[in-house]
Amino acid sequence: MTLYVEDYEIGQRCPLTAADNEADQCGGVLMLSAAVDCSCHIAAPCAGCTEAPLVCTVCGWEAEDLDHD
Ligand SMILES: [Zn+2]
Ligand SMILES: [Zn+2]
Repeated sequence: MTLYVEDYEIGQRCPLTAADNEADQCGGVLMLSAAVDCSCHIAAPCAGCTEAPLVCTVCGWEAEDLDHD
C-alpha cells in the first residue's frame, strides 16, 4: 500500500490510527506545521504556509515523509 501526501488534509485523523493494529492507535489529528519562511504579512497565504507539511499533533508524524516521488 502506497500513501501520498496529497491524500491527507487538515483535521484528518493521524494515519497511524488507521494501521492494522487498532489497539495501537495514535489518536492525533493532522495540522499544518509552522511555516518556515512565512510572508503572509505581505501576501497570504504565502508559499511557506501552503507548502508546510501536515504533522500529527500527538506523535509528530509528518505526511511529507511519505512523499518520496
Ligand atoms: Zn505564511
Ligand atoms: Zn499521530
